[in-house]
Amino acid sequence: MTPLQRHRCMSHIRSNDTKPEMIVRKWLWHEGFRYRLHVKSLHGTPDIVLRKIKTVIFINGCFWHGHKEGECFRMPKSNTEFWENKIQRNRERDTLNYMRLKSQGWTVLVVWECQLNKKNRTQTLQALSMRLSKIILERNTVKSCYQYGEEEPQQLIAAEDVSPYNKQR
Ligand SMILES: [Zn+2]
Repeated sequence: MTPLQRHRCMSHIRSNDTKPEMIVRKWLWHEGFRYRLHVKSLHGTPDIVLRKIKTVIFINGCFWHGHKEGECFRMPKSNTEFWENKIQRNRERDTLNYMRLKSQGWTVLVVWECQLNKKNRTQTLQALSMRLSKIILERNTVKSCYQYGEEEPQQLIAAEDVSPYNKQR
C-alpha cells in the first residue's frame, strides 16, 4: 500500500459509519428491525445490537480482522511483520470477544466486508434477515409458553411419573 492508500484505509476503518456498516444498517431499518449502535458496555463494542432478541452483529473489514488472506486482502509488502502481528492480534481479540458474548447468552453474527460487495450483497442481506427472523420466532415461542403459565413439557411428563395412580396399584 502507498502511504495515501494506507491513510485512506485507516480513516475509512476508524470512522463509525464505514460504508459496509451503513449498508447493513439501512437494510435492517428498512426491514423493520430496530437496534442500537456501538454499544460500549458489551465486549468488542458490537456495531449493531438487537437487545430484544439478544443478538449482536459485527461488520468486519476483511483486512483489519484478517478474513481470507490472498482472497480478500494482501499483506502489505512493507512492514509486513508489523501488519501480520497486528492482524493476528485483532483476530485473537475478536475470538475472545465473541466467546465472552456467547457465554453471556448473546447470539453473535459476523458480516464480512466482502459479503457486502455488489456481487454478494443481496444474498447476504436476505440471509441476515432470515436469520434474525428465525431468532425472533424462536424467542417468541419460548416466551409465549411462559406467558400462558404453562409448565415445560418435560416437567409435565415428570409429574405423571409420580402420580397417585402408581401408589393405588
Ligand atoms: Zn473477506
